[in-house]
Amino acid sequence: MTDLAAFAKKTNVKYFMISYTDLFGGQRAKLVPAAAISDMQADGAGFAGFATWLDMTPAYPDMLAVPDPDTVIQLPWKPEVAWVAANCVMEGQEVAQAPRNVLRRLVAEAAEQGLRVKTGVEAEFFLLTPEGDKISDPSDTAAKPCYDQQAVMRRYDVISEICDYMLDLGWGPYQNDHEDANGQFEMNWEFDDALVTADRHSFFKFMVKSVAEKHGLRATFMPKPIEGLTGNGCHAHISVWSTDGKTNAFAGDGGGQVGEVGLSMDGGHFLGGIMTHATAMAAITNPTVNSYKRLNAPVTLSGATWAPNTVTWTGNNRTHMVRVPGPGRFELRLPDGAANPYLLQAAIIAAGLSGLKTNADPGKRHDIDMYAEGHTVKDAVKLPLNLLDAIRAFEADQGFTTAMGAEFSAAYAKMKRKEWDSFVSHFSAWEREHTLDI
Ligand code: ADP
Ligand code: MG
Ligand code: MG
Ligand code: MG
Ligand code: MG
Repeated sequence: MTDLAAFAKKTNVKYFMISYTDLFGGQRAKLVPAAAISDMQADGAGFAGFATWLDMTPAYPDMLAVPDPDTVIQLPWKPEVAWVAANCVMEGQEVAQAPRNVLRRLVAEAAEQGLRVKTGVEAEFFLLTPEGDKISDPSDTAAKPCYDQQAVMRRYDVISEICDYMLDLGWGPYQNDHEDANGQFEMNWEFDDALVTADRHSFFKFMVKSVAEKHGLRATFMPKPIEGLTGNGCHAHISVWSTDGKTNAFAGDGGGQVGEVGLSMDGGHFLGGIMTHATAMAAITNPTVNSYKRLNAPVTLSGATWAPNTVTWTGNNRTHMVRVPGPGRFELRLPDGAANPYLLQAAIIAAGLSGLKTNADPGKRHDIDMYAEGHTVKDAVKLPLNLLDAIRAFEADQGFTTAMGAEFSAAYAKMKRKEWDSFVSHFSAWEREHTLDI
């Protein structure tokens, strides 16, 4: 275990940013001078939970964010500060609704079964002007801008700075590109244990936003920031390994259609759990009002949304909710950029373990272009059409909410319903336009 005071001495860090993530994915931190870090490492930094997106009242006792010293990262763009992920504790008890605790509990549950879930995420983002309403590069206007070599070079300073930092941090980044929407980029690094990926995903968002700001830009992971253009997905690639991390328990021939794509029987059941719980999972993987403008979008300027509408799976074909790009893993294309990094991983493990427990069947593989021929799959389950649909599906799926934790699930549904109520009580220009003269 890293002693944070010793870490500060060695690295000349002046401040620690003790950071936890709330239910809506907001990262909350206190800046603690290195001279005070020893006590904070032992006891945690105090927060009023109600002041953030957690289901608490102002009368609750202090919530303490206790740093997990193994996660400490010296900010590459501000080396006198170090970030450290923290676990929330109240009166000696782990806060059950706190997202990192939810994930840690599920990782432990998988470990009890001799399983290690490993994942990689593709956290797409846009680079906008500081006001957040326009693409920052006025020349980035191509109808099919994916992999645009001129456009990615016009943002070389930002992208290479972030990639250099990931190289130094040892994350194993291996490619960066301009994505399918004007102003959109993707940077990929190597998969790892679900908790490591969740911490890196959190830090990646913080880093991308910080470096963009430094360059006078605004980075956003919002699911659909620009109407008519492809949205920000956050695909997750998933495999499950033995405790020692050496044997991929998903690789093999589980028989039937699952075996044909190189998944083992366990891989098929884990996938079956994801398929079974997908509509409920959407409340977590697609957690905002805006998320459903990506999922149920009309065709975008580039010709495809690259986002699913239904719960279907396939081989190496990007038009379905789940793609099996090669043996031993699958890609969940449902999540978007608003997904809470910890709850995203927790939802995958909860649904997958439930699938293993019930020997869930992933259903038939569909090897069609889902965008063009989706209507021919008569029994395809539709993904939620809006956030309220998703919250209702979440509340209705007791197997999933129990696996995520009853206390967490109640808190989450309550906070999300409040957010939905806030949205529908908002008067929009559309209403006036369509209703004024009725
Ligand atoms: P895509 O073809 O979907 O755009 P990317 O290369 O952008 O794929 O991202 C793939 C992600 O999947 C990376 O994070 C990569 O490390 C991860 N990945 C590769 N193999 C596995 C695996 N066996 N288990 C989990 N994640 C994996
Ligand atoms: Mg105060
Ligand atoms: Mg990708
Ligand atoms: Mg992409
Ligand atoms: Mg992908």
